[in-house]
Amino acid sequence: MIAEIKKTCSRCGTEKPLSGFSKRKANSDGYHYNCLECTRAEGRKRSRLSAEQCRQRSREYRRLHPKACNDRTKQWRAKQDIEGLRAKGAKSTLCS
Ligand SMILES: [Zn+2]
Repeated sequence: MIAEIKKTCSRCGTEKPLSGFSKRKANSDGYHYNCLECTRAEGRKRSRLSAEQCRQRSREYRRLHPKACNDRTKQWRAKQDIEGLRAKGAKSTLCS
């Protein structure tokens, strides 16, 4: 009788059968380092946090630095223009 192959989750350290891990071809044993539960928990946490944080940060930043934000947009536009002109081989007229 073949013993069930087990793998230790690198995150929670629990030994689980391979069915408790998601498959990952890039890994030498063909399975993910973390067990399914940890992978799920991590993914959920990350997606919720990052989306929330991202929204909150940009809102906060705009509120605190309305001018900086505008300047940055202007700078970005100007850069795009210059690069666009360079790409066409034309000389920049902004310096004259
Ligand atoms: Zn785990």
